[in-house]
Amino acid sequence: MTNNNLERNIILTGFMGTGKTTVGRLLAERLDRRFVDMDLLLETQFGKPISAVFAEEGEPVFRDAERTLCAQLAQERGLVISTGGGALVDPANRAALGQTGMLLCLTATVDEILRRVETAEDRPLLGERSARRQRIATLLHARRDAYGAIPHQIDTAGRTPEAIINQVLAALAADGEAPGMSVLPVHTPEGQYDICLGDGLLRHAGHLLANRGLRPGPAAIVTNSRVAEHHAKTLAGSLREAGFEPHLCLAPEGEQHKTLATVATLYDQFLAAKLDRNSPIIALGGGVIGDMTGFAAATYLRGAPFVQIPTTLLSMVDASVGGKTGVDLPQGKNLVGAFKQPAAVIIDTAVLGSLPPAEFASGMAEVIKHGIIGAPALFEMLETGLPRPEGPRHKHLVAEAVRVKIAVVEEDPFEQGRRAVLNLGHTFGHAIELVSNFTIRHGEGVALGIIAATHLAAVLGRCDPALVDRVIQVMDRHRLPVELPGYDSGAIIAAMGHDKKRAGKTLRFIIPQALGDVVIIDDPGIAWVQDALGRVLGK
Ligand code: NAD
Repeated sequence: MTNNNLERNIILTGFMGTGKTTVGRLLAERLDRRFVDMDLLLETQFGKPISAVFAEEGEPVFRDAERTLCAQLAQERGLVISTGGGALVDPANRAALGQTGMLLCLTATVDEILRRVETAEDRPLLGERSARRQRIATLLHARRDAYGAIPHQIDTAGRTPEAIINQVLAALAADGEAPGMSVLPVHTPEGQYDICLGDGLLRHAGHLLANRGLRPGPAAIVTNSRVAEHHAKTLAGSLREAGFEPHLCLAPEGEQHKTLATVATLYDQFLAAKLDRNSPIIALGGGVIGDMTGFAAATYLRGAPFVQIPTTLLSMVDASVGGKTGVDLPQGKNLVGAFKQPAAVIIDTAVLGSLPPAEFASGMAEVIKHGIIGAPALFEMLETGLPRPEGPRHKHLVAEAVRVKIAVVEEDPFEQGRRAVLNLGHTFGHAIELVSNFTIRHGEGVALGIIAATHLAAVLGRCDPALVDRVIQVMDRHRLPVELPGYDSGAIIAAMGHDKKRAGKTLRFIIPQALGDVVIIDDPGIAWVQDALGRVLGK
C-alpha cells in the first residue's frame, strides 16, 4: 500500500441498518484515523434529530446541508466517513467524495435490514412500523442504481463487523495495487485464487501476478491475432515491468480450432520459449482461447501455472471461472478436458471496448442467466439498464454475474450436482445451435433456450407465467433473439438427444420457478417440451 493510498479517505455508505456507523467507528480505531459520522455531524449542525429536520424544514433542506458537507469532507484526507443512507444517491456527492477517497457500499437483504431497524425510532424515511418492510423494499429499489454505481460492494448479511472490516482492508490493499480494483476470492478444493476485477487492469497485470506468487521469468501469452492486435502489447509491457519475459503464442481464430491439433502447436511454442513447470501460461482471449490454454497448461510438463485474462463478456462472467478446460473432438464439443484451476483471473472490463456488438450481446445472455439463477437484483437492474453499459455500472454488472458463478462452483467444484444449474437454457440452446449449423451464436441459442425453459416451467405450472414475459423483455432489451420462426421443433428435439450433458438416457432441463430459484428436472414429458419449444418457434 502506498502512503498516498493510506491518506485517502475511506467512505462507507449503504442503506440504513447495514452497519456503516458500527463498522466505520471500529475501522477508524483499527487504523488510528478520525471517524466522521455524517448524520451525527448534521444533527449537531441543525441542533435537532434528523427526523425533526425532515418534519420541520423538509428533506430538500437536509439534502442541501448534506451536499455542502460532502464537498467539505472531500477537501480533507485520512478520514473514515460513514455517510447517511441517502447521501451518495446524488451522483455529485459520489463524485466529490470519490475524488479523494475510496467508496464502499455495505449491502444487506430487505429482511436483514428490517431485523436491524425493527426497534429504531429515528428513521424518518421509514414511517409506521407496520409498513416498514414494504417501505424498505421500495426505497432500496429506488436507490439500487446509485448504490450499484459504487465500485466496492460488501455484503454484510450474517457477518461480524470484524469480517466486514477485513474485507474493507483487503479492498484498500487491492486499491493500492490498482486503483478501483475489486478482488473476489474463489475457494477451491486445492486452495484459493483471486479474481481481480477493474477497468484498465491489463496495465497492472504484471504486478498483480507477481503479488500472487507467480514467478517472474519466461511466461506465455496465448491468444489469437484478433485479440493480440488490440491488447497483447499492453499486457506484454506490463509483464515486462514486473520482471516477466513474455512470449506471444498464437492460436488460430475460432471454435473450429479448439482442437488437440492446436494444443499440440501450443506445446511446440512453449518448448521453443523454454517454459518450465513454474512458468505462467496466460490465456488472453475469449472462452475458446481460455478453454484450450487451460487444457494446455494442465498437461504441459504435467501442469504449469495457469492465468485467465478473459476478453469477451461471456468468458469474464462464465468460462474463466470454475476450472473447466478442454477442447472439441469431431464428434462433439468439449469432449476432452481437465479441471485446472487458475492461479489468478484478471478481468479488465476496458477490453470489452473492442468487442463486436454481437459478441457483447451474446455474453449478455450469460449475464441474464446468472441473474435468473442467483441474483434477482441483477436481473431487475438489467430490466431497466442500458444494452451496453459503461464505466462503474459495467464493472458492477460483471461483478454481480461472476459472484453467482463463484457461489455455484464453490458449492460443486467438480460438477457432481448443483453446478448443473449453470446449464439453464442450454438443453434447448445447444440443440438450436446445432440445428442452425452454428449460424446462431452460443449466447443467442442460450437466450432462446432460457425463454423455452421458462415457457416449460410455466406450462408445467412451476412458475408464474408473468416471468416468461419478463424474461422475453429483458432478452429483447439486450439485443438478443426472442423467437425462432421457420425452425422445425422435431429436429431440435432430436438434436437434444446428442447433448453431452444428458445424464444417461434422461433428458434434463433446468427451469426457473422464480428469480433466484432454479431447479433441475429430468424427463418432464415430451409433450410439455414440444409445447414450450413451439411457443419460441411461434407455433
Ligand atoms: P470466443 O472465444 O470465440 O470469442 C468470440 C470472438 O471474439 C472471437 O472471434 C475472438 O477472437 C473475439 N474476441 C475476443 N475478445 C475480443 C476483444 N476484446 N476484442 C475484439 N475481439 C475479441 O467466444 P466466447 O463466447 O468468449 O467463448 C465461447 C467458448 O467458451 C466456447 O468454446 C465454449 O465451449 C466455452 N465456454 C467454456 C466454459 C467453461 O466453463 N470453461 C463456459 C462457457 C463457455
